[in-house]
Amino acid sequence: MDIVVQKYGGTSVGSIEKIKFVAKRVINEKKKGNEVVVVVSAMGKTTDNLINMSKEICNNPNKRELDMLLSTGEQMSISLLSMALEAEGYKSISLTGFQAGIKTQGLHTKNKISDIDSEKVKKYLQDEKIVVVAGFQGINEDGDITTLGRGGSDTTAVALAAKLKCPCEIYTDVDGIYSIDPRVYKEAKKIDYISYEEMMEMATLGAGVMDARAVEIGCKYNVPIYVALNNGDIKGTWIKEYDERMEERVITGLTISENNLMITINNVLFKSNNIARIFERLAQSFINIDMISQTAPVNGYVNVSFTASKDDLEIIKDVITKINDEIRGIDVSIELDITKVSVIGIGMMNQSGVTSKVFKIFADNDIEFKQVTTSEISISFAIDSKDKQKAANVLAKELNL
Ligand code: ADP
Ligand code: ASP
Ligand code: MG
Repeated sequence: MDIVVQKYGGTSVGSIEKIKFVAKRVINEKKKGNEVVVVVSAMGKTTDNLINMSKEICNNPNKRELDMLLSTGEQMSISLLSMALEAEGYKSISLTGFQAGIKTQGLHTKNKISDIDSEKVKKYLQDEKIVVVAGFQGINEDGDITTLGRGGSDTTAVALAAKLKCPCEIYTDVDGIYSIDPRVYKEAKKIDYISYEEMMEMATLGAGVMDARAVEIGCKYNVPIYVALNNGDIKGTWIKEYDERMEERVITGLTISENNLMITINNVLFKSNNIARIFERLAQSFINIDMISQTAPVNGYVNVSFTASKDDLEIIKDVITKINDEIRGIDVSIELDITKVSVIGIGMMNQSGVTSKVFKIFADNDIEFKQVTTSEISISFAIDSKDKQKAANVLAKELNL
């Protein structure tokens, strides 16, 4: 008998009616003769609401306690789904991450799955039960409940599928992976097949439809991932190994990542020690730097710019105060509304000219960019957020996305 892991996200289980509907879909899968493991997220905006509650107590709550709180969201939905399955006459059991044997490592709220002891899940499947597992959570070596970072239920699902050696179906509120978020660009094209590498890059660069870590695990353990709508039978998207069906495309997708800021430190006396010190201080405060650029020295001075997440603004301000004390004469400016626009495609590895094409599109449409970075399969531009929609529209049109 084949096993399948199905994952339903927050909107798919956003109300009791929707949970009952998910139960019916799961039962249909069971009726096909498959063993089903279902991974669910917290209902609707539950995780956001829990975070907001914690912020009413303090701005920076203890992360262990935050994990304890956030994990309750998924616990609600697993028990309700399991009840809905039983109400339809099917044997089912709900399991928290801990009960499902999901072991994690790392910092609270950003844990990674280190291993899964799947014996219990397998045993319940043998007993003919539909196993409902809480997404986004696990247990660390100290026996504490942990969470996997926002959107982490995808990771739970793919990791379970890897362990059970079966495919993973991700059901969500969109009917597959599009070249661009269809909420940003209505005419975006649906992609039938996308390689793990491209999807990983898209997810890392801002395509919120899949958690990047989930795709990484899928790639490592060769788990076929199918992303589709939580309602009906519309054909979705397969994320899988690169093959000839993906060959003709040079550019597969475009992503928009908001919530960035750009810091420019002007008048830095050009000594490598000074530049090293700036980034050392930022690293000591665990600031994740994204794009970096530095001007050529003029009269022995340079300007250094970098982008980071807006969430880190307060810590960055503190670090800059320290740097100001250490490197005399600098002048710092912070731009708060920076958007990163990236184009992604595995075909870029063998074809040049994409960068110049994008430069030309930006020039023809008066869009200024502030930073550029490239990887083998992507190019990213930091632009002013006011230009983001225009950039998405013209790039999508000109690049035929
Ligand atoms: P879930 O709660 O099911 O995990 P998410 O909200 O995390 O759902 O992901 C689904 C959303 O991802 C869609 O509503 C869509 O707006 C967004 N999205 C972003 N980029 C893309 C893309 N390239 N293709 C499809 N959807 C995308
Ligand atoms: N409930 C968690 C979140 O909102 C995990 C998930 O939805 O995947 O981030
Ligand atoms: Mg999600």
